[in-house]
Amino acid sequence: MTILPVIPTSLDQPDAVATKRRPSMPPRHLADLDLAARQAAVKSLGEPAFRAKQISTHYFGRLVRDVDAMTDLPAASRARLTDDLLPTLLTPVRELACDDGATRKTLWRLHDGSLVESVLMGYPDRVTACVSSQAGCGMACPFCATGQQGLTRNLSIAEIVDQVVYLAGVAASGAVTGAPPRLSRVVFMGMGEPLANYPRVIEAVRRLTTPAPEGLGLSQRHITVSTVGLVPAIHRLTAEDLNVTLALSLHAPDDDLRDELVPVNQRWKVAEVLDAAFDYAARTGRRISIEYALIRDVNDQPWRADLLGKLLRGKLAHVNLIPLNPTPGSKWDASPKPVEREFVRRLREAGVSTTVRDTRGREIDGACGQLAAGELTEASAGGAAADAEVAQ
Ligand code: SAH
Repeated sequence: MTILPVIPTSLDQPDAVATKRRPSMPPRHLADLDLAARQAAVKSLGEPAFRAKQISTHYFGRLVRDVDAMTDLPAASRARLTDDLLPTLLTPVRELACDDGATRKTLWRLHDGSLVESVLMGYPDRVTACVSSQAGCGMACPFCATGQQGLTRNLSIAEIVDQVVYLAGVAASGAVTGAPPRLSRVVFMGMGEPLANYPRVIEAVRRLTTPAPEGLGLSQRHITVSTVGLVPAIHRLTAEDLNVTLALSLHAPDDDLRDELVPVNQRWKVAEVLDAAFDYAARTGRRISIEYALIRDVNDQPWRADLLGKLLRGKLAHVNLIPLNPTPGSKWDASPKPVEREFVRRLREAGVSTTVRDTRGREIDGACGQLAAGELTEASAGGAAADAEVAQ
């Protein structure tokens, strides 16, 4: 049996598919709105319009998410403003740290019980947040833990933005060992297929990159959107006025194998998806990142390295090889190091810039839905962790 992906028929697809847990979109939050809409919202509560700027400065400028800590707001207004503009969207279920505190992973419960994950990664010169764009994922890639769960629902704009604002607050507290206190990069490489939640992801990017107090003021160039290769959505992204980095999860240079590893390839073939990605690179001037999880004896043969090199030679592209992080019960494993080295050597020989991604957070199930998958298994066994915990 072939597992088929859920291919969106429209980029503005409905928010949820039916599951037992009745997923539903969260209440509205200020991060869903631009500044003008926030001003209209506070006015409709009978508050002066400047309150919108006040709470926006707290939230985006000072990374304060709790209205009670916004002491310049009249106490009488706080409950009203919380209910209307600052509902709790994300409740931490687990927080785990590893790599001596340089990697921190958070598992969140959303208002409808859905679980999503974010990861914070510190480096000497930067701090990167890896965020989720959907609860679950409909793309069904067989090596990915999230792909095994299916899609629960799209995240709202604010559910995406709030992950980043929370993690920026963690970074600002100095909790990320050996890294600067300012979060500077965001990668959409957590749970979900960002381009299947297109309008919200784009709005979230705008919110993250608009200067404070309207947004978080990150650089567009420091945001990476990763996709399985939804070709019409890549074209649409190319037409946006955004300078984000596009990552394409290729994982195989030939249609036979990619049809299996990234089932959406059954709809949009390697040549077509690469053309769309090259077009993005040409229009934005930004090098695309080709993601390739090296899987032992599956996609790591020298001839596949050569074919990939041929496809990418002379293009504005960089290959990011990811040692496979095996999901529990998976038949697949990472490639042996000598095989990985040979794969890199052949790509470089073909003139293609190539690096091997570091494997941050392995011991905390850092890859792609593994923490949520573990939690779902525990929950169905009746042993879900109810309280937040920080394992150091
Ligand atoms: N849906 C998007 C973004 C989420 S996953 C996409 O597919 O691009 C981010 C990256 O991690 C993708 O390249 C994905 O293929 C890869 N990935 C997923 N599971 C993995 C695993 N078990 N080991 C290594 N990489 C994995």
